[in-house]
Amino acid sequence: MARLILRALFPLLLLVPLACSRENPAILSNAAGVPLVRVRLLQSQESVTVAASQPPTVRTSADNTPRPLQFPNSPVSVTFGPGGWRIGSLTLSPGVLTIQPAADGSVVVNGQRYRGQYRFVPVTANRFDVINDVDVESYLMSVVSKEMLRLWDAESYKAQAIAARTYALYEARTTPAGRGWDVYDDERSQVYGGIGAETDKSINAVQSTRGIVLAYGPAGQERIFKAYFSSCCGGIGQSAYDAFGDPWSEPLSEQNHGTLCSASPAFNWGPLAIAKDELTRRIRSWGERKNRAEKDMALLTSIEIQARNRLGRPVRFLLTDIRGARYSLSGEETRTAINSNAGNGPVLYSSFFRTINDAAAIRFVDGHGRGHGVGMCQWCAQAMAERGYKANQIVLWSYPRSKLVKAY
Ligand SMILES: [Zn+2]
Repeated sequence: MARLILRALFPLLLLVPLACSRENPAILSNAAGVPLVRVRLLQSQESVTVAASQPPTVRTSADNTPRPLQFPNSPVSVTFGPGGWRIGSLTLSPGVLTIQPAADGSVVVNGQRYRGQYRFVPVTANRFDVINDVDVESYLMSVVSKEMLRLWDAESYKAQAIAARTYALYEARTTPAGRGWDVYDDERSQVYGGIGAETDKSINAVQSTRGIVLAYGPAGQERIFKAYFSSCCGGIGQSAYDAFGDPWSEPLSEQNHGTLCSASPAFNWGPLAIAKDELTRRIRSWGERKNRAEKDMALLTSIEIQARNRLGRPVRFLLTDIRGARYSLSGEETRTAINSNAGNGPVLYSSFFRTINDAAAIRFVDGHGRGHGVGMCQWCAQAMAERGYKANQIVLWSYPRSKLVKAY
């Protein structure tokens, strides 16, 4: 904590242009200059229900005339086909369908209310994605509440708001060209619940940190970065380089947090035994989905730690099958593969464990933490808030050598 106290002496709040190394020039902002995030709410749907308490403005890309549309206040189905869109008994021309609510929360899609506007984007002849274009401040109001425990401290909520804002803007600025959305609405990006999930504490955390993001780099050349966070580091985190193959970066390097987050129920987990035939089935299904060699793996016989990071946390595992074929997987690949198609079966909370290879099963022992362990640890953040640290201290400690920047 000495380093943290030292940092607290320097109130690092710079005003620099927000930028990142793979800039997407197509990023949009709302009228107040707040950047938009495009959240994919629903993928490849044949039908969704929509209701509106006030008439929204509707347009399609084939006929770009915005018009108010009297929706019923009870849900009607929206479908898409060769003739265009059908909304209840109405027919609209084809192309992308945009619904702009008259007021935040006045349009309900599949029972959920979101701020911002909705885009219905055809992906096949009769299926479409539903995307929510929302300014990042409004978006965060339900990300922070969904990502944090209800009773946690206001300062850890604010730290989460800063990390999640940085993450979302990084994703929005690096979306692959041609993709019409930036983030998933679940753990693959950040959990987003819409208006119904917002709380007073999450709204306050967002508003009191408005526009503040994390950046890294030499003075004057700071760039935002992908501010990963996860539930519980288990004492030792891992780098984004080891976990995801990202370029090495100091704010996202491995950190030793000792027992700071030991209040987490997942700080220690296991032992957990999973039968080898079950593990084989799961890993093959992961290999199938990823089109990797593991899809043809014979019966798994052992999992061994292949590499640890400088702090001792395992970051790579060697899987061996009954034919002697070996597969080298990063820790996160190992965890994801083992948790694939798990149904109601046991799953690994993290990739921080060691194994005991029994005859018919593999035992996962000395498990620590929950999630990938890169970047800010939410349970560590809460522990620091309980010790009196402020949000800016928590995030600067969580992402070493980062700075706080006001982006807008
Ligand atoms: Zn931790």
